[in-house]
Formats: sequence, C-alpha cells, structure tokens
Amino acid sequence: MKWKKVLLMDEFRYNLHNHTYYSDGELSPAKVIELNKKQGYNAIAITDHDSVEGIPEAIEAGKRLGVLVIPGIEISTAKSHMLGFFVDYKNPELVNFLKQRKMRETEVANHLIQGLVKQGYPLTQEKISKVINARYLNPWNISLALVKLGFAKNEGAAIALVRKVPWLENVSKGTRSAGNVSEREAIKLIRIAKGAPVLAHPFSAKQKLRYLTVPYRAFMLKRAGLMGLEVQHPSHSRLERGFLHSVSTILSLHKTGGADFHYSVYDQLEEWKRIPQSRGVRKTIRTLHARR
Ligand SMILES: [Zn+2]
Ligand SMILES: [Zn+2]
Repeated sequence: MKWKKVLLMDEFRYNLHNHTYYSDGELSPAKVIELNKKQGYNAIAITDHDSVEGIPEAIEAGKRLGVLVIPGIEISTAKSHMLGFFVDYKNPELVNFLKQRKMRETEVANHLIQGLVKQGYPLTQEKISKVINARYLNPWNISLALVKLGFAKNEGAAIALVRKVPWLENVSKGTRSAGNVSEREAIKLIRIAKGAPVLAHPFSAKQKLRYLTVPYRAFMLKRAGLMGLEVQHPSHSRLERGFLHSVSTILSLHKTGGADFHYSVYDQLEEWKRIPQSRGVRKTIRTLHARR
C-alpha cells in the first residue's frame, strides 16, 4: 500500500497525537513513525509542542514506510493546548512565531535550572542532557529529567517542583511576552498556516463543572475559528469521550484522537497501542486531507 492511498482504505488506523525529541518526546521523528507503524497505525500526526522541526523527517519516514504522516503542532496557550492538523509547516508567520517561542523557552530553561540549583538540586545542562534525549531544553523535558534523575517520583511531582521555582521573576519582560498567545490567537495562527485548529484533551483538567464549561468554551472558540475537539485522549474516561463525541456532533466540530505519545516515563506504554478507532475521526482525517 502506497502512503498516498492510505485514506482509501476503509479501516485505516490513526494516531493523531505524537511528540518527538523536538519537544518533550524521547525519540526521533523517524523512530516515532516506525513504532507507530509497528503497532498497525498508518495515518500518523506529529504534533510537537510549539515546534514543526520534526515534520520533514517524519514525512520522509512515512514515504519510506508506506504510512500517511500528517503535519501537525500543539501550541501552548495561557489556558490550554491547541492542536493544529495539516499545517503548512513552512508558513513564515508560523515559523517566525515558533522562533520567538524557542528563544523564550531557552531563556526560561536556563532560569529554571538556576532556580532548581538554588533550591538544592545539583543540576547542570549536561546532567539533564545525559538522561533525556531532547534537542532543546524546555520546562517539559526538564521536569522529565527530574523524574529520571530521581528528584521527583512522577510527572505530577516534577511539575510541582518546577512550579515552585520563581523563574518568572528572572525572565526579562520582553522575553516573558514573546510568543505568548491566547487560545484565539493560536487558532488564528493555525488557520493562517492553512491548518485545522483542534482543542487538545479538553477534559484533561478534571475541574468541577467541566461538563458545562467545555461545551460552552467549544462553542465560543468555534466562533473564533476552532474546527474540532480531541475526543480520544488517554486522560479521558469512556464517559468523557462519549460526551465530547456528542458535543462535537452537536456543534458540527471535527473529532480527533491519539495517544499523546512521548515514549517517556509519562506514557502508559501498553495503552497507547490500543487507541479505539472511530469512524468519526476517520471522516475528519479524510475531510481535512481533501481540504488542503
Ligand atoms: Zn497537550
Ligand atoms: Zn501532546
């Protein structure tokens, strides 16, 4: 089966949420595509946090292995994560925005490490780079390193440690605002890059009233250009997935789903192999692919 024909298969299998070592994943883009293929997935999106650098390599690997690679991104906003699918990863506005973000992230990472050292954790960039396989240091993979170095027992504990560091005080004002975006701005940016903006894991924060607030937010964001909801995510219960499925149908939003694969200590490695495959998500992929 040729990679271009994957979508003609009735039962193609998708995984629309994957990270590589260009954000906080542990593997190269080619390796991520290979592992996905081994698990039987043949429509695979690369959605690194605030980076599109892994996409060319992933697309090459996809052609070689006969699977469809969907260029994607996951932009962090003040409130949430915004996925973008079928983005033009060479779009100058997107590229420029990501460049500013990278500069900020590098500065933040330096302050974060200094802050952790002040709190008594004997860290250096070299030590961190030894335990994680990352192209850049950022708050996500620094927290992963904290787990791997035994300073935190799990992801939650590591993030709590990182949050305690007053790194913001040390970061210059200009840097702080560089690359900050609201949900609406992220939606706009993804659309400028010809992509489809999708609200990531809307139920991952288990706040009260989420069954009321999520539909309302989805409705408001749709007016700003949102095109879909991530229905299937490892953090969602069955009930939540069913609920999000109905919300997206009612609001005429697309449905997506994936493993949020990092291949790190954060992943439940067995679970990612069994992403329930839904007809609605297949339809989304076909529609968005045709609209490019
Ligand atoms: Zn996310
Ligand atoms: Zn993610």
